[in-house]
Amino acid sequence: MSKILMCAPDYFEIGYEINPWMQGNIARSSPAVAAEQWQKLHDTIAQFAQIELIPPQPGLPDLVFTANAGIILENRVIISRFYHPERQGEEPYFTEWFDRHGFQVHTLPLRLPFEGAGDALLDREQNWLWAGYGFRTELDAHNYLANWLDIEVLSLRLIDRRFYHLDTCFCPLSGGYLLYYPSAFDRYSQQLIESRIPPHKRIAVSETDAIKFACNSINLDEIIVMNDASSSLTGKLESAGFKLITTPLSEFLKAGGAAKCLSLKLNELRPTAARAVVNLPLVTEQIELVGHLLDSGLMNRALDRIVDAGGSFQVLKFDLGEQRHSTSRAQVKVSAPDRAMMEDILAQLIDLGATSDRVPDRDRAIPPNARLEKVIQAGVAPDEFYVTNIYPTEIRYRGEWVRVRQQRMDGTIVVREIGGKVMATCKLIRDLQVGDMVVVDTAGIRRIEQPEVRTEASEFGFMSSGVSSERRVELVVEQVAWDWQRLKDRGGRMVVTAGPVVIHTGGSQHLAALIRHGYVQALLGGNAIAVHDLEQSLYGTSLGVDLQRGKPQSGGHRHHLKTINLIRKYGSIEAAVKAGIITSGIFYECVKAGVPYSLAGSIRDDGPLPDTEMDLIKAQQDYANLIYGADSILMLSSMLHSIGVGNMTPAGVKMVCVDINPAVVTKLADRGSIESTGVVTDVGLFLRLLVHQLGI
Ligand code: NAD
Repeated sequence: MSKILMCAPDYFEIGYEINPWMQGNIARSSPAVAAEQWQKLHDTIAQFAQIELIPPQPGLPDLVFTANAGIILENRVIISRFYHPERQGEEPYFTEWFDRHGFQVHTLPLRLPFEGAGDALLDREQNWLWAGYGFRTELDAHNYLANWLDIEVLSLRLIDRRFYHLDTCFCPLSGGYLLYYPSAFDRYSQQLIESRIPPHKRIAVSETDAIKFACNSINLDEIIVMNDASSSLTGKLESAGFKLITTPLSEFLKAGGAAKCLSLKLNELRPTAARAVVNLPLVTEQIELVGHLLDSGLMNRALDRIVDAGGSFQVLKFDLGEQRHSTSRAQVKVSAPDRAMMEDILAQLIDLGATSDRVPDRDRAIPPNARLEKVIQAGVAPDEFYVTNIYPTEIRYRGEWVRVRQQRMDGTIVVREIGGKVMATCKLIRDLQVGDMVVVDTAGIRRIEQPEVRTEASEFGFMSSGVSSERRVELVVEQVAWDWQRLKDRGGRMVVTAGPVVIHTGGSQHLAALIRHGYVQALLGGNAIAVHDLEQSLYGTSLGVDLQRGKPQSGGHRHHLKTINLIRKYGSIEAAVKAGIITSGIFYECVKAGVPYSLAGSIRDDGPLPDTEMDLIKAQQDYANLIYGADSILMLSSMLHSIGVGNMTPAGVKMVCVDINPAVVTKLADRGSIESTGVVTDVGLFLRLLVHQLGI
């Protein structure tokens, strides 16, 4: 006969808020109703099991939830280490009770949260333990469960705060059935469940049943006891051969618990006499983060990424930089339920930008070499290829760190040895050749810290990643002007990418002035900016609108196509300028000053102009060539071209993005590069202010 541990609700109340159910319910439970509901549950269970009682304790209102005492298997119990201090006082009472009742008690290390049978449920048929993590229990605790209980542990990640314990949304039943609420789990965990429980044994509950705590059930052979169930769920359970007993537990629901939480099965046996499978599911790695970890927010972001991606962490060491400019160093142990998730987490940590040295083996602090795999199909990378980001990166090859050349986002890293010299280069997938050796996984890859970026950042206080409001536009303009002046004086390289709005907003004469005065070394755009600029030069209109008067000119829309036709007749913009047809404007100045430009085609293009490159791969290459070596890029009102340019620009290049739409600006600033800044304003106004500030 089953033995169940319960605790009378003499001191039960809602005295604190540690889960969403408790919110707004402090002191709102009725002791009398709670006592009556608990007694009814007790009496119901007593018909099918023997009940043991642990004495209630004043000041420990949640002691009623005996499921959270620990996890039991045969004569062993692993006592809970509660996540919230409010419940930690329960630990000695449970420990003492189990000691006294002849259990072999295991205690987890301090600060390693694990919440007992709330987060660990034995499968009723198979020799494995389902273990939850995400809110209360740390993933690392699962290793201890596997070792101490000598059982395979299947880790499930909880993602819905309302279902903070595994037993609130997951209930293994006899006969190999499973009652559960799938949406409480991440995709990986749902797949794990589906891989272990056949479809006809999975009884998924609706949200309506889930929030009545239908999964928080007590299962004693064919009997299921729960708070409440819809008729459809009742039907499903009955047709699987179960007998359902509902007994209201509303007072306990206010604290986030129901039938299962109020009980703990004491005589848990291994489901089958099968061999003990010890399969440690956890993959762990040690990561080293170096950088301005606290003031840049990097530490927080790194830890958030680990958790968001489904892993967990333990900070092993943290050395805070002693001075403002010195860097901090942290050693973090990352755990994940499998290798694929670990690789995903590590790739994200490298992307985040701290130097991250993966230490493969705790005793050997030598980073591993990067793993290479051969390309076997042209234009297709090996499955696990490492995806590059904008940051200067090094890879480890034969024990040496090698700097990656032509760094850009969304590429692969190809390693070659030429005459004994090792070269690592970013290459786009489409450019890969059969036989290229491509870096795979994340081992032996690190981002290089750039101390000079920090110096510049503090010098240019405004150049911190973020969006400037209208009020700050003038200040930003002053800073850009000052920066550009210095770059020009030292022969720096400034690149502008611009959309047609520059012309509509009257910015063309200002951009033309910047080009004329040597502030622009390359111009990137599309068909539209060129057509509108040339139309303005020829007719004084842009898409038929008279820019002087701001009014559509009658028959003006034809100017647009006539312009295209005229340039086509001359064969190129340059030819039209040289023939004296075009006498002003942005492209006139480019031709006159010998400033190279590239016009990338798009599906929206009319014409196109003969200069517009409709082969997009070629256009991307032209853009990349013109961006190469840029010190500063000004992005003016073109979502398409600005984001395209942002993706192909390595870190270290200052970028200023001007757009009326904050979303565009944020997207660029979100590159995480501290050198990029966004200005939400009218582009015509911005250019006017910039030219004025430069005094040209
Ligand atoms: P886009 O949508 O990529 O970008 C326009 C951007 O301008 C938007 O982000 C918008 O928020 C911003 N904007 C609007 N008003 C603004 C203002 N007053 N100040 C600052 N920002 C402002 O469009 P795009 O770059 O104009 O065009 C995309 C592609 O389509 C380009 O390749 C372009 O050449 C092509 N196109 C061709 C034609 C043509 O051939 N006739 C016409 C239009 C666009």
